Amino acid sequence: MGAGMVGVSTAIRLLRDGHAVTLIDPLRSASAASFGNAGALNPSSVTPLTVPGLLARAPRLLWDRRSPFFIRWRYLPRVLPWLIRFLSHARRSRAAAIADGLSALVAGCVDEHRALAAGTAAENLLIESTFTALYPDRSAFEADQYLWNERKRLGLGWRILEGESFRQLEPELARHASFAVRMEEHGFIADPGRYLKALLEHFQSLGGGLLEGNVGQIVVKGAKAKAVRVAGREIAIGKVVLTAGIRSGELAKPLGLKIPMESERGYHVELVEPSFTPGGVIQLTDLGIFMTPMLDRLRCTSIVEFAGYRAPENTEIHRIMLDKIAGAFPRLRWKRVNSWMGHRPSLVDSLPVIGRAPGFDNIYLGYGHSHIGMMSGPRTGRLLADVVAGRKPDIDLSPFDAGRFS
Ligand SMILES: Cc1cc2nc3c(=O)[nH]c(=O)nc-3n(C[C@H](O)[C@H](O)[C@H](O)COP(=O)(O)OP(=O)(O)OC[C@H]3O[C@@H](n4cnc5c(N)ncnc54)[C@H](O)[C@@H]3O)c2cc1C
Repeated sequence: MGAGMVGVSTAIRLLRDGHAVTLIDPLRSASAASFGNAGALNPSSVTPLTVPGLLARAPRLLWDRRSPFFIRWRYLPRVLPWLIRFLSHARRSRAAAIADGLSALVAGCVDEHRALAAGTAAENLLIESTFTALYPDRSAFEADQYLWNERKRLGLGWRILEGESFRQLEPELARHASFAVRMEEHGFIADPGRYLKALLEHFQSLGGGLLEGNVGQIVVKGAKAKAVRVAGREIAIGKVVLTAGIRSGELAKPLGLKIPMESERGYHVELVEPSFTPGGVIQLTDLGIFMTPMLDRLRCTSIVEFAGYRAPENTEIHRIMLDKIAGAFPRLRWKRVNSWMGHRPSLVDSLPVIGRAPGFDNIYLGYGHSHIGMMSGPRTGRLLADVVAGRKPDIDLSPFDAGRFS
């Protein structure tokens, strides 16, 4: 259930294992997080938002309209219990354990995508590249030491660019900052929507079934799922995998599964036919913006907004993002702007659930990938296929066990 990056990856892996697989999705791809994300494949995405020190900075971040954190105050009473649990992880020991879990999912993510997309039309959209974090100066980089120490602890390396080596960087970037950290063996998807569509076509070409519709309910009897209900019709199933991103909670809750999920709403503005495109993904650390070159567009992503699943997008945020970009790169020009908002499915401890649903023999869960679902979708799919087949996964799945919240 759900044909985002996690669902499509899982479906392909299950099909390659010899199962008969049907994907069910309403197929309104632009509303999926997997459509509008930054497309970054970053093995360095190992630290959660809940780093030590966040608690002290949180009030300022939420009040400052130019920070990348927003909350719709009317929504505060609804989100508060989740936020309290989320912030409780901003401790050194918890943040390190979460980083270990994230690292197990994102390490080697470019290779994992290559293995999934090999021989399909999606392959052309998978680009190996550097990843560059831009800092205004060395002291701003030094203020971020927690993050870089964690990356070092987890075996990642980088090059520092400053002085002459920085000026040799793309000149447009050098106008905004004077210090950069560049990492190799990263990558990006040059158009996540098209990439997913190509993978879905590959799935169908292998004999996978596609059913357009919303699953309204998983029908269970005792410890077994018997059917799923789609548009009033019951469809019998052998096993069911729930990969419906932010909407997974609505299907899991009636099963008695207590998995605390919230939408970390994120935004993008795309500059169509920009006058400048960087060679790889760029992070403007001072503005909280990622810039990814996508075919004829430059996609700029940012923002964590707490306003719930149903609230309309906040168009002011798009304006603020454009202002920041124009301020950082005054010479940058573009023909048109596309804008988008989507939902990162986030659990209180910043780790997804991957594995069999507690208390059920044939229900499997793969959701809650928060900020890393595009890069870690293929590995999640491979791990879920292992669990379904009864094979031993190549990483420890206990950090992703859905039973951890009971
Ligand atoms: C602004 C932004 C930038 C991001 N940047 C990155 C990045 O650079 N790299 C990265 O790795 N991650 C990034 N992410 C996170 C990433 O996009 C998500 O973690 C990931 O896309 C989640 O994938 P998913 O398959 O779980 O969910 P989704 O992509 O949301 O897919 C869920 C699917 O389930 C379907 N569905 C919903 N309800 C039902 C139902 N009842 N029945 C059947 N189907 C249903 C939906 O139609 C949808 O197709 C970003 C997110 C945002 C918002």
